[in-house]
Amino acid sequence: MPAWFDALRRLWRARREHPEPDAAFWEAVERTVPYAENIPAAARERVRRLAARFLATKTFYGAHGLPITDTIAGNIAWQAALVAHRTGLGIYDDFIGVIVYPEPFRVRRRFADEVGLVHEFDDELYGETWSGGPVIVSWGTGEEEGMQVALHEFAHRLDLADGTLDGVPLLPPTLSRARWEAIADAALARLREDLDAGETPPLDPYAEEGPEEFFPVATETFFAEPAALAAWDPALFAALAEIYALSPSTSPAPMQHSPRTARSP
Ligand SMILES: [Zn+2]
Repeated sequence: MPAWFDALRRLWRARREHPEPDAAFWEAVERTVPYAENIPAAARERVRRLAARFLATKTFYGAHGLPITDTIAGNIAWQAALVAHRTGLGIYDDFIGVIVYPEPFRVRRRFADEVGLVHEFDDELYGETWSGGPVIVSWGTGEEEGMQVALHEFAHRLDLADGTLDGVPLLPPTLSRARWEAIADAALARLREDLDAGETPPLDPYAEEGPEEFFPVATETFFAEPAALAAWDPALFAALAEIYALSPSTSPAPMQHSPRTARSP
């Protein structure tokens, strides 16, 4: 039996075993996304619809024997959909799937320096992506360090969607390239000043690598720690809200059953 027939049959089986995800499925997925509560309900509705299409059209491959559970696929699809909230899934047309590692993975790097000497070294990565290649993420890693690995890699795809990885994502008509670059450059300079002064800005210092890493790191903070980002740089927060066409909640989640304290006038 030809290999393609077997692959087709497996695909068909997979579809039959995974009917259209329902509200209970997405509620369970959102419990695995640590910042999901920050996303307004109306935006979450669209994210769920986009995520269902992502699940139906992309393949997931577990590396090193990692079984791809509904939770893993749903979680990654949900975060991909969040990044595509304004643009739709067209930004992901140039790759067919996501590779998921059970831990940070090692890759062999090689580059030639200016005098032609070739350097080779091993690099340990939480995620990686490149033009025309897949999205690679490690599952359940980096969260203790405040990283949102899947968000970060999909934000790189939003940057790549205009053809170049340069820290300028596909922008809405209301936000010019010049205005975004001015806001991002100012924030990057401020981040360096804060770090030099021994302060702890809300952005991970990895953003210092340059504009192409600043954008995905700022995206992580925008969704995961919106209040801190809005307080640190309101212009950056507003620009990201335009880029993603949504504003994560900057007020603390309301406490359930909290008694209203009567204040004297
Ligand atoms: Zn990156």
